[in-house]
Amino acid sequence: MSVREKHVLGLSGGKDSAALAVYMRQHHPNLEIEYFFTDTGKELPEVYEYLGLLEGFLGQPILHLNPDRDFDFWLKQFNNFLPSPQSRWCTRQLKLRPLEVWVRPMLEEGTKVYSYVAIRADEEYREGYSSKHKNFIVKLPFKEELIDKQGVLDILFGAGLGLPNYYSWRTRSGCTFCFFQQKIEWVRLKEKHPDAFEEAKAYEKNAVEHGSPFTWSQGESLKELEQPKRIEQIKQEHKKRLARMLSKTQVNPLKPEIELLDIDDLYGKSKVCVACHK
Ligand code: SF4
Repeated sequence: MSVREKHVLGLSGGKDSAALAVYMRQHHPNLEIEYFFTDTGKELPEVYEYLGLLEGFLGQPILHLNPDRDFDFWLKQFNNFLPSPQSRWCTRQLKLRPLEVWVRPMLEEGTKVYSYVAIRADEEYREGYSSKHKNFIVKLPFKEELIDKQGVLDILFGAGLGLPNYYSWRTRSGCTFCFFQQKIEWVRLKEKHPDAFEEAKAYEKNAVEHGSPFTWSQGESLKELEQPKRIEQIKQEHKKRLARMLSKTQVNPLKPEIELLDIDDLYGKSKVCVACHK
């Protein structure tokens, strides 16, 4: 009896997973891949826009896996404590659990599930959904084919997709209020999506009132961060970092912005995850 196979590729709304989808379509057109997006319900509008563009390129719909229970449900379960790098219940409950629920029946009926993950050649394999099931097989095509960050950009620009629109002000996909954001990204969230900033502020106020030790951004509340003087300070600090980095980097005049693509290159690597930020 032949073994059934299923090929899946998770999109985060970020550049790497999008490039992998393009790459697989271009290099493995005969592979029937199901593209999916686990939707936390707290995503940037730019993410949906970009997924729409990608659907156009792929010529097939992207499956949205919605969690059975939303952020507000889980927040209550976690005593109104905000998720944080120390307690990342959001990724577990809103990103990984829906995937697990989706693939479990396939694995149990004996289907081999191949999951294509966009870890680049220039990165370490970071944590993502790792089923212990013997039928769940993770594939890392960019690692195998030695495709790095520049390779990813070449794929996206070559396909006419470019980068998601939020790249003009933030380099991370994922929730509007993601605590992995740098302070400058919070400032820009306030400028670009004031409603989302206000929502994050309200979640934070509620959490602090319930005794949460965490604020979204380390060391200060969003209320403190949004004070005009503080905003100015954050912008100045960002400018200085950028200038320092530019003075050390040989910028390609044809692609000046590309060298500065990842905010983490400016602020040091923070722990991000495959499910949210690839
Ligand atoms: S994007 Fe950030 S806040 Fe959202 S699930 Fe991922 S880690 Fe949590």
